[in-house]
Amino acid sequence: MTTTATEIVVVGGGSAGLSASLTLSRARRRVVVIDSGDPRNSSADGAHGLLGQEGIGPIDLLRKGREEVKSYGGRIIHARVIDARPDGDSFRIVTDSGDDISARAVVIATGTRDQLPDIPGLRERWGRDVIHCPYCHGWEIRDQRIGVLGTGPMSALQALMFNQWTTNVQFFPQGIDYGGDLAMLAATGISVGSQTVVGIVVQGDRLTGVHLDDGSTMALDAVVAPTATRARVDGLTGLGLDISESPAGTAVTVDAAGHTSVPGVWAAGNVAHPATQLSEAAANGARVAMTMNTELIFQDAERAVQEMENDR
Ligand SMILES: Cc1cc2nc3c(=O)[nH]c(=O)nc-3n(C[C@H](O)[C@H](O)[C@H](O)COP(=O)(O)OP(=O)(O)OC[C@H]3O[C@@H](n4cnc5c(N)ncnc54)[C@H](O)[C@@H]3O)c2cc1C
Repeated sequence: MTTTATEIVVVGGGSAGLSASLTLSRARRRVVVIDSGDPRNSSADGAHGLLGQEGIGPIDLLRKGREEVKSYGGRIIHARVIDARPDGDSFRIVTDSGDDISARAVVIATGTRDQLPDIPGLRERWGRDVIHCPYCHGWEIRDQRIGVLGTGPMSALQALMFNQWTTNVQFFPQGIDYGGDLAMLAATGISVGSQTVVGIVVQGDRLTGVHLDDGSTMALDAVVAPTATRARVDGLTGLGLDISESPAGTAVTVDAAGHTSVPGVWAAGNVAHPATQLSEAAANGARVAMTMNTELIFQDAERAVQEMENDR
């Protein structure tokens, strides 16, 4: 076991964590980033809607980010955090590669996990021709034949969204009652299927359709599977963070500045704001880092005043 002391540990080196680390390293903080290398969009060919980096590979984007953080003295550890807990005035973070790090403050930026419907073959196409976000992939599937799966209360509205990118949208309620929402779909030219999707048809590494429960298949070019999300906090439960639950999933509870329920622990990016895009996750990471740095400066100044008064 390697034991190290640092000022700040950032758990998770996606856009939010690396952006926070870049800001903190440039603020001359000693920063250790621990990252298991599995960002949410890793299965996608490219990241879109990202000004100045349009279409860049998700892993290439983070490789550049890691180099930028390292160039200002930040340290990156490729490992998974398996335990994190308060330890007196600081925090102790343990990884699966044998690191034991004590830090004054922690940023949680571990992202979120998409809960995919349990349909054979669907997970294998995730991020390619099974998608969830029109702003990430809508342009790439414009004018194509799209099937939208009912997975939760917002799915009919997702079908309405995708209708902006193609007029060939088929909605499958999958047994969920969408009530009045279906009138909006019908009025805007979206077909609503009475069958249920039970499988994905793939030919030559391309989704070409779906299997339906009546034994038939329908030709499609892409499937939209709106997901619920779960904050990635495995290995972090020892911190005692408050987690909020909603029909959309779970997220670490934060205030507007990124403070969690545990003083000294901040959270940024999808782990706290699951619906946000790469640019927003990066911006959130930077903002949380600036707030954290400012608060640490004031904490130190207050401590210095206290020590000066004690010495009198
Ligand atoms: C299929 C798909 C495609 C997408 N495409 C786009 C797009 O084109 N444009 C766009 O703007 N947005 C896109 N998004 C959204 C984008 O993925 C998120 O906005 C972004 O990943 C959030 O960044 P993050 O840093 O919060 O989390 P992540 O990028 O998920 O990074 C979290 C990091 O923390 C690490 N981690 C987790 N747990 C631990 C642990 N215990 N110890 C150590 N490390 C840990 C993970 O390995 C990961 O590297 C897409 C999402 C999906 C699902």
